[in-house]
Amino acid sequence: MDSFTAPLVILCPLLTVVTLGYLLTCVLWPFGPCRTCDGTGKRRAPFGRAFRDCTRCKGTGRRLRTGRKLHNHLTRMRRNGTR
Ligand SMILES: [Zn+2]
Repeated sequence: MDSFTAPLVILCPLLTVVTLGYLLTCVLWPFGPCRTCDGTGKRRAPFGRAFRDCTRCKGTGRRLRTGRKLHNHLTRMRRNGTR
């Protein structure tokens, strides 16, 4: 094993495990916490102490994961193409 293939032998299985783990996460938990409000669904008003619903997640505190968005897009495209 030379110096070029040694990192690849370690990196390829690691990337495979990380990718499969992310795919499993997208299947089991399609929603993640909103990054703007950290999953609370509330944002402090610009002035004063009032709280408002987060505009990004519309107060749900959840966001669709990027991998799940891609899965939904591909599923929709396949359904429309094979109908
Ligand atoms: Zn939010």
